[in-house]
Amino acid sequence: MAFTHLHRFYLPTYFPKPQTLSTKLSLLPTPSLSKLLNRSHFSSLLAAEPLPVAESTIAAEPFDPRIEIPRDRLFVPPETDVACDSSDLCARVLKGSNIVLSKYVRDAKVDEAEFVKSSVRTEDCPSDGLPEFALVGRSNVGKSSLLNSLVRRKKLALTSKKPGKTQCINHFRVNDSWYLVDLPGYGYAAAPQDLRTDWNKFTKDYFLNRSTLVSVFLLIDASIPTKKIDLDYASWLGENQIPMTLVFTKCDKRKKKKNGGKRPDENVSNFLELIRGFFETAPPWIMTSSVTNQGRDEILLHMAQLRNYWLKH
Ligand code: GDP
Repeated sequence: MAFTHLHRFYLPTYFPKPQTLSTKLSLLPTPSLSKLLNRSHFSSLLAAEPLPVAESTIAAEPFDPRIEIPRDRLFVPPETDVACDSSDLCARVLKGSNIVLSKYVRDAKVDEAEFVKSSVRTEDCPSDGLPEFALVGRSNVGKSSLLNSLVRRKKLALTSKKPGKTQCINHFRVNDSWYLVDLPGYGYAAAPQDLRTDWNKFTKDYFLNRSTLVSVFLLIDASIPTKKIDLDYASWLGENQIPMTLVFTKCDKRKKKKNGGKRPDENVSNFLELIRGFFETAPPWIMTSSVTNQGRDEILLHMAQLRNYWLKH
């Protein structure tokens, strides 16, 4: 695994049983405002300062116990003042995620979405300069379902599943102002090894050279235990300083004996634990389900604030 090449940082990710806010706060340090405001990038790999204390809960999902997130594991967008009192900060963490809302959150609604084109090389992708978000994940992770759920269209992502397009970079324009990009799935067991390697090259070139890419959304199936290939992918994105958001899919699924008997939130916790220490600051992550639409609005809010910040800078 490529993790050993990454810098190690002291990021105590943990998901303890619920505690009272006051107990938790008394254990944790106070932030330096100037350090926080100096955070310069969305990437999880660039800023070293510890973040201040907060906690958040993921509430009311059928088998989601409260997950508490220490303040230093929150994703705080740049130019975001988190020096407010803790209850206020708590209210600004998107549900089912570690993402704090920023002043750049606006225009998150999807009014229209249309398929634009399939490209086989990065150079062939649309050249209008609009910001974009790329969805990638193992085959069957639920990428098409999530894409359809984000744009509230039952079958838009079917376009990318048509013969000849599954190995393409597929661009969908949203509200005439930004793109969702569907990338080829990886790790499909039935694909010959050579073909899989090609897909990697293909998507990696896109990640490294697409200047309008705001963030990669790496989809991880939360209904099964952590897969090494997903950890490798996250680690590769980290090493290459490509901004990444972890999107945990299928969070509605009940635990299965054959899946090790773990609940989705336990699998999420385990994945985050495994990448802990390899990222300078916690990458943004969010729990979703295309069945219940959990996380849909939250993803769109997150994308909106990333996008608006990107457009401003
Ligand atoms: P893709 O290959 O990554 O595009 O995955 P699909 O979107 O085609 O989904 C693969 C399978 O997982 C399908 O049978 C979907 O119905 C199922 N699926 C996708 N998302 C979810 C989800 O959020 N919850 C559950 N329970 N099943 C899902």
